Amino acid sequence: MKYSEYPYERIDLDKFKNKIELMINDFSNAESAEKQIKIIQEYQEIQKEYHSFGSIAHLNYARNTKDKKAIEENKFYNEVGPEVAAIDNKFTKAINSSKFKKNLLEKFGDHYFELISMELKSFDSKLVKLMKEENELRNNYRSLLAGAEIEYKGETLNLTGLSPYMQDTDRKTRKEAYTLMNDFFKKNEQELDSIFDKLVKLRNEKAKILKFDNFIPLGYLNMNRSDYGSAEVSEYRKQIVKHVVPLVNKINQKRKDILGYNEMFVYDTLYFKEGNPKPKGGVDFQVQQAKTMYSELSEETKDFFNMMIDEELMDLDNRAGKSGGGFCTSFPSLERPYIFANFNGTDHDVTVLTHEAGHAFQCYQSRKQPINRYLWPTYEACEIHSMSMEFLTWDWMHLFFKEDTEKFLFKHIAGSLAFLPYGALVDHFQHWVYENPNATAKERKSQWLELEKIYQPGKNYDDLDFLKNGGFWQKQAHIYEMPFYYIDYTLAQVCAFQFWIRMQEDRESAWQDYLNLCKAGGSMSFLDLVKLANIKSPFDPKVFEEVANKINNWLNNNKL
Ligand SMILES: [Zn+2]
Repeated sequence: MKYSEYPYERIDLDKFKNKIELMINDFSNAESAEKQIKIIQEYQEIQKEYHSFGSIAHLNYARNTKDKKAIEENKFYNEVGPEVAAIDNKFTKAINSSKFKKNLLEKFGDHYFELISMELKSFDSKLVKLMKEENELRNNYRSLLAGAEIEYKGETLNLTGLSPYMQDTDRKTRKEAYTLMNDFFKKNEQELDSIFDKLVKLRNEKAKILKFDNFIPLGYLNMNRSDYGSAEVSEYRKQIVKHVVPLVNKINQKRKDILGYNEMFVYDTLYFKEGNPKPKGGVDFQVQQAKTMYSELSEETKDFFNMMIDEELMDLDNRAGKSGGGFCTSFPSLERPYIFANFNGTDHDVTVLTHEAGHAFQCYQSRKQPINRYLWPTYEACEIHSMSMEFLTWDWMHLFFKEDTEKFLFKHIAGSLAFLPYGALVDHFQHWVYENPNATAKERKSQWLELEKIYQPGKNYDDLDFLKNGGFWQKQAHIYEMPFYYIDYTLAQVCAFQFWIRMQEDRESAWQDYLNLCKAGGSMSFLDLVKLANIKSPFDPKVFEEVANKINNWLNNNKL
């Protein structure tokens, strides 16, 4: 079935709730473990259908944020979300207090109850009203950014459309593009500050209702982190400062030499004088190359990617009114993933495609997991699939970049490494924000600048005033939309680097471990999945030395 043929409807909330109330009742009165297991399984199917409808509503809206019907449907599913979460929470409580808990544990595994216990700690029906407000604020932020209409060179561009100019070979063009971006944010500064301030206060209030000191522990619970806390993350960030920041400085020095600049500014995004490598064709070309690539990589990827093409499960071009960024979503009742992206002719197109294909591939491989909570793992584990896929496909990058392949590989590895300090900065900043919920907008911005000195020393905004005054983070959607979801990318990046190393040493075993990891879905915690994949935990202090060394060697031996 093609995407356009998928069944879609609005659930009838009252009927939906009544049906689940009855199931909860049957569950609690069930006389045997078998009966309870059967009810849980039936409930999974109902939830799968609900999630598929919700995904379709969100996706159609992202595909056209100006479409009236899409706006309405998305609004509907945003609004019912907290109510459905509340009834789901009620079922979860019943499962948690089952008299057959031992049998349920045997059937679904410890991790199921670990997830349940985190959910129960992080939810209370008193939160529903605040959750709805939070959704609304998230939407305000998203629409504000998606609605950007920037006039440049005779065109009206959104922020994604502006980004190729930010990588232009002409320094003046790059600076102009950055200035336009700077000015867009400056123009909307008050609204951006106000939305964020409301979000911080609201999240803090949620934490207080649940009797936490501040939002941080709740943020971790919302991310379903069961095997590490903020103390481990804090130590981990220090490792990045120690091992990665110096190496990134070295790379930046090399870039400066290549470009022949005395000083590098934020808009000097180039790695090469003649420009960053570009894929040698548009969307159709890239999809064709990816088809070849995935058919050669493995049998599993071949079947998977052909399905994505045949069933029209990708929307990759950048259009006016389309929401920015890239993501992977899924329709669990149909057992299919979907890739959303905004190609703009830069090398980013290829990394987005391989990245999102990594998510989609995992989602497809773990589609038969018995419990919906096991379909996806926690976010840091999810990003291992996607970021490793970026590296597992290195041997085919020539299909996209031809004579510029070496340049792409250099930029990819250097960019991935440079990302670690930035990711740690975003994380550190968020810890500060939620430790100081009453800070003013100005204080938040100056704190950002303080932290930037640690993680990105030498970052120079030239005279771009909004950015120079500490506003850069306001374009980082995660900070608004999903608090504490960011260090995840760095944790996963450290795991992906290990796959990069292993691919060079023994491709076959690296692929097999990757495949096993994908199949396991979310049936284990992050650190258990890492173990399953035969890689080291990013919290192991030895990892950084090893990874930084290998990358340093690769860069030294690089022909560029
Ligand atoms: Zn991702």
